[in-house]
Amino acid sequence: MIDFSLSDEQKQLRELAREFAAQEIHPKSAAHDQSGEFPLAILRQAWELGLMNTHVPPAYGGLGLGVLDGCLLSEETAWGCTGIGTAMEANSLAEAPILVAGTHEQKQQWLAPMVQEFRLASYCVSEPDAGSDVAGIKTRARQVGDTYVLNGEKMWITGASFADWYFVLAYTDPGKKHRGMSAFLVPRQTPGVEVGKKEKNLGQHASDTRAVRFTDVEVPAANRLGQEGDGFKIAMAAFDHTRPLVAAAAVGLARRAMEYAAQYAKERTAFGVPIAKHQAIAFMIADMAKDIEAARLLVWLSAWTIDQGQRNTLQAAYAKAFAADTAMRVALDAVQIYGGYGYSTEYPVEKLMRDAKVFQIYEGTSQIQRLIIAKEIFDRA
Ligand SMILES: Cc1cc2nc3c(=O)[nH]c(=O)nc-3n(C[C@H](O)[C@H](O)[C@H](O)COP(=O)(O)OP(=O)(O)OC[C@H]3O[C@@H](n4cnc5c(N)ncnc54)[C@H](O)[C@@H]3O)c2cc1C
Repeated sequence: MIDFSLSDEQKQLRELAREFAAQEIHPKSAAHDQSGEFPLAILRQAWELGLMNTHVPPAYGGLGLGVLDGCLLSEETAWGCTGIGTAMEANSLAEAPILVAGTHEQKQQWLAPMVQEFRLASYCVSEPDAGSDVAGIKTRARQVGDTYVLNGEKMWITGASFADWYFVLAYTDPGKKHRGMSAFLVPRQTPGVEVGKKEKNLGQHASDTRAVRFTDVEVPAANRLGQEGDGFKIAMAAFDHTRPLVAAAAVGLARRAMEYAAQYAKERTAFGVPIAKHQAIAFMIADMAKDIEAARLLVWLSAWTIDQGQRNTLQAAYAKAFAADTAMRVALDAVQIYGGYGYSTEYPVEKLMRDAKVFQIYEGTSQIQRLIIAKEIFDRA
C-alpha cells in the first residue's frame, strides 16, 4: 500500500502552522530582513502554540511528534520567512543529538525544560577552519577529574547569542580522528564562553549567526553525550533527523517564490498579453511546480523512513540536495520573471533569492550531499 494522505491531526497541525505563518511571520518578514532584529517575540508565540520542540518525547513533557510532522511545520514557517524559520529550527538541531544519544537523566535535564518554558539552544560543530571536513575541527576537551575543560572556537552558530545551552563537538583524542571526538552539552552562561558579533549574512537576516569561543570552559563529565569517541557519530546521526526539516524549509521558500512569480506573470503584460501567455515564462512556472512537488515527495520519503525506525541517510541527502537546489533555482527564476522589479529591494523576490542560497550551504553543502549519495550507492554496488 502506498498512501500520501495526511492524518486529520497532521492536517490540523499544518493548518495551525499555515495560519501562524500567514498572520504572524510573513507580515513581519521584510521588517526583520531590513533590521536584522532577532524575532524573539515571534519565536515565543510559536513556542506557546506548541510549534517548537515538537519531537520532545511525552516522557519529558513534549508532544513526541515525528519527523514528518516536523516537516509539515517547517515548510509552512519557511513559506512565511526562512530567516525566522531557521531561528525557530535551531532548537531541533541542538536537541537531535540528545534524542539520538542522551540518557534518561540527560533528556530530563536538557529536553524537559525546553517544553516547560521558552528556551533556545544551538548546535556547535563548524569552526573557522572546518565545516564540511568535520575531522578538521580543533576544539579540544580534556578530562580533569570529574570535569572536562573545553578550548576552541566555533563558527556560524545559529542562535548563539540567544541560546541557553550548546551542543558542542570536540576532540578528546585527536590522534583517533573521527573516533577521537566527543559530544558535550554546555550552558551558555558557563565562565569562559564568549559569543562573537552577529555575522552580516547575504540572507536570512532575522536569524542570528555568530562565532562562539570556549576558553578553559569546565563542564561536568555528566554533560558528555554517549561515550568518549562517539561524538562524530552522534553529530552526524542528528542530521538524519534534521536534514528532512531543512529540506522541507527549502520547499516552503520555493513554494512562496512560485506563488509570487505566477501571480506576477498573470498581471504583468508585455507585447500585448500577460507574460504568463509567453511560453518561456509559462514553462519556467511549470518547472517550478514540478520540482517543488518532487522535492516535497523526497522530503516526505526521508521523514517517513526515519519515522519508521529505518536508516534514512541516503533519502535525507536526496531531499536536502534536491530541495536546496530547487529553492535556489526557483527563487532565481522568480527574480527573472519579475524582470527589473525582481532586482529591486522593494519587491519580495530578491529576498527569497538571498535567503535561498544558504540551503545549499548549511547542514552539509550540496556537494557534501552528493558525496553522501555517491558513497551510499557505491557501498551498495
Ligand atoms: C547562515 C549559516 C548558519 C549556519 N549554522 C550553523 C550551526 O548552527 N551550527 C554549525 O555547526 N554550523 C553552522 N553553519 C556552518 C555550515 O554548516 C558550514 O558553513 C558548511 O558545513 C560548509 O562548511 P565551510 O563553510 O567550512 O565550507 P568548506 O567546508 O570550506 O567548503 C567550501 C566549499 O568546498 C566544497 N567542498 C568541501 N569539501 C568538499 C569535497 N570533499 N568535495 C567537494 N566539494 C567540497 C563545499 O561544498 C563548499 O562549496 C552555518 C552556516 C551558515 C552560512
